[in-house]
This record gives sequence, structure tokens and C-alpha cells, in this order.
Amino acid sequence: MELSKRQETILRIVKDEGPITGEQIAEKLNLTRATLRPDLAILTMSGFLDARPRVGYFYSGKTGNQLLGEHLRKLSVKEYKSVPVVCQEETSVYDAICTMFLEDVGTLFVVREGGILTGVVSRKDLLKSSMGTRDLSSIPVGVIMTRMPNIVSCELDESLLEAASKLIRNQVDALPVVKDAESGDGVEVVGRITKTTITKAFVELGGGEAV
Ligand code: ADP
Repeated sequence: MELSKRQETILRIVKDEGPITGEQIAEKLNLTRATLRPDLAILTMSGFLDARPRVGYFYSGKTGNQLLGEHLRKLSVKEYKSVPVVCQEETSVYDAICTMFLEDVGTLFVVREGGILTGVVSRKDLLKSSMGTRDLSSIPVGVIMTRMPNIVSCELDESLLEAASKLIRNQVDALPVVKDAESGDGVEVVGRITKTTITKAFVELGGGEAV
């Protein structure tokens, strides 16, 4: 985050002279306490300063990068996940391609009754199975998908950063967000995290427009 000139000055004063009260900082800057309040609130909320009642402001000693890292690790899969798009093993390759276009996604999660995850089918899986085959309506997705237990997934409580590392490490575009099925048999798909999810979070963190 970018600090204003005045915020930089406050930070320097607290660094040199902290603990120091808001009143004392205001005096040094020839400003009123009320004028400084928003700046002190921003510096405290963003973690540059620590405030202790009746003592004053301390410099937290954290750099912008450290604070960004802390903030990043707090983003969770739960708050960023999007709606999963699913099909069944019996769905034909033809219908799976149509679903990808209609739903505007690049990965379909394959489920059985109860939304239990059985596989994943990607754009390239569908392209590969389309080569040299005429009748795409007769091939079920079940024969071309990547199958459990070889699916990399993430859970609601995981950090978005951990999910992003999984996307990179496993060289895939999407992860199903899963939770244990109530029946105790398998995992239920409750969301999806894709490279687009991570890009959106990145833009948001940079103060860009929310999408
Ligand atoms: P594409 O194949 O269109 O480039 P991916 O890179 O996501 O898309 O997929 C590469 C391969 O990995 C495909 O065969 C796909 O079935 C498989 N795959 C995709 N997502 C996952 C996942 N979350 N876990 C395991 N395998 C996956």
C-alpha cells in the first residue's frame, strides 16, 4: 500500500520517538489531533503502527512486504471460491464441450450422486479425445477424465496462497473445493478455485477494480 507524505512523516516520528501519543505527534506537526486521526487509523489498521491505550503509538517494525505477506496468508479459499461446474461420468464428450462453452469454464468436475467427486476433465482432455474420433456423442467423459484418487483438491479452510501453490506445483488450471461427504464415502464438491480466481484476488490486492 502507498503511504501519503504525511503518513510517512508520522511513521518516521513514531519510529524515532515512540511510544508517543497522538497529541504529541499532532503538536510536532502543528496539526490538530482530529486532523491526524484518519492517518493514525490507516497506519494502525494496516499494521505499520501498534497502538496501546494510555501509552501511545509504537512502530511495529514490519515492512510493507511483510504486511502484504501477512494479509495474503489470511485470504481463504472459502471467501474466494466460485461455483463449481459439474458433469457425470456418463456425460458424452460432445455434451461436456457444450457445457464448457455455455458455462464459460475450462475445467469440469465429474461427480456421482450427492455431488461426490469422481474425476476432472480439462479442455485438453476433450481436445485429445476429439482427435481422430467422429462420434463425440458416443464417448463418455468417464473414459477420458483424470480419476480419483489422482485429483488435487483444496478445502474451505485452506488459504488461497496454499491453493495457488497447488495449481502451480501440479500444473493444473483448476482445483475442486471439497469437503468430506456426510455419508463418509468420498468428498463432495462445494466450489472451485482456478487461475482466474487467483488473478482476481491479485488485482483486488493491488487496489484494482473488483471483478
Ligand atoms: P489443460 O489440459 O486444458 O491444459 P489442465 O492443465 O488443468 O488443463 O489439465 C492438465 C491435465 O491435468 C488434464 O489431463 C486434466 O484432466 C488434469 N487435471 C486438471 N485439473 C486437475 C486436478 N485438480 N487434479 C488432478 N488432475 C487435474
